[in-house]
Amino acid sequence: MTVDWLAKAVPQTAALYPYVPGKPIEVLLREKGLSRAVKLASNENPYGPSPKAVRAMQQAAAGVHLYPDGDAGALKRALADFHMVEEERIIVGNGSNEVLELLIRTFAGVGDEVVYSQRGFIVYALAAQAAGATGVAVAEADGLSHDLDAMLQAVNERTRVVCIANPNNPTGTLHGVAALQSFLDALPRDLLVIIDEAYYEFVATELGDTVALLQHPGLVISRTFSKAYGLAGCRIGYAIADAGIAALVNRFRAPFNVSLLAQAAAVAALDDGEWMAARVADTLAERDRMERALQALGLSEGHSHGNFVLLRHGDSAQIAAALENRGIIPRPLAPYGMAEYLRISVGTAEENDLFLAALTEIVDGMA
Ligand SMILES: *Cc1c(COP(=O)(O)O)cnc(C)c1O
Repeated sequence: MTVDWLAKAVPQTAALYPYVPGKPIEVLLREKGLSRAVKLASNENPYGPSPKAVRAMQQAAAGVHLYPDGDAGALKRALADFHMVEEERIIVGNGSNEVLELLIRTFAGVGDEVVYSQRGFIVYALAAQAAGATGVAVAEADGLSHDLDAMLQAVNERTRVVCIANPNNPTGTLHGVAALQSFLDALPRDLLVIIDEAYYEFVATELGDTVALLQHPGLVISRTFSKAYGLAGCRIGYAIADAGIAALVNRFRAPFNVSLLAQAAAVAALDDGEWMAARVADTLAERDRMERALQALGLSEGHSHGNFVLLRHGDSAQIAAALENRGIIPRPLAPYGMAEYLRISVGTAEENDLFLAALTEIVDGMA
């Protein structure tokens, strides 16, 4: 007997689709029979984590027969000290992705609305749907940048959560602190606003301090160790929120949601800010070089504030396929309704050289 499991699942399942991640290197190697591939699809740190984080994991490895600290006390204390906030205000998760999902699940359900930007990070839409809430996607005025005024207009009495990615993935756009402050000032103080700062470390210098915005009680700032800190494979992210919000999210959190290795790695990585800052500087220099090269090819679109660049071409699918044939994995943006775009993560100088050489060859061949 074949069971129609969809008929048994919660109603919102029908409209859900799984998050589409970047293609893993092993898959491309197998598909194409290649010996080397470069993944520029998931905005990972190509240099890896701080060696101190690797050592901390090695030391912790012998203890993984025991559950980790379920409250992630050492990590929360380290984050609280780092940000000069009370420990009760820190939420940690299996990637900031889990923190975002927990926040949305805690505050939005059937009949509630979650407001985000149409080309904002796709996880907000997926999390809202999974929670049974109604996603409200607000169009960008210029095709790339969150339209904060239009987002304010979209807020009504059914709105429970507003999500902003700053810088945004995949568009790379950034709003300054003054614009964010005016946005918050125009909203009720008890409305949950998430500012997702997964790429904060790449804009720290130009954006300045955003933690001060937390004077607004409904604001939650989320960050991750996956990007600048190079710990994507550990799955560890966090948020700073009002202590009351953090306490409620804890009720939805699974026990031991952050692994022992992830906790150890994150504490050590946070402590090695110098190493992280040097890798960020390398990445920013490479990003600017890539944007100039794309400009010279007539394929550049906007300016990215993240560790990735945007490529725009009428036949981007053909370019993506040709790049994969040459062992380079880009990220097509069709799931964002941006079929003409590819997102390319900034790799090491050598990886970027390989990408730019392949791209030049492909574009020359298309002309
Ligand atoms: C990568 C990313 C995240 C999620 O990262 P985690 O690995 O789950 O911490 C969150 N928001 C944005 C905008 C991202 O690009």
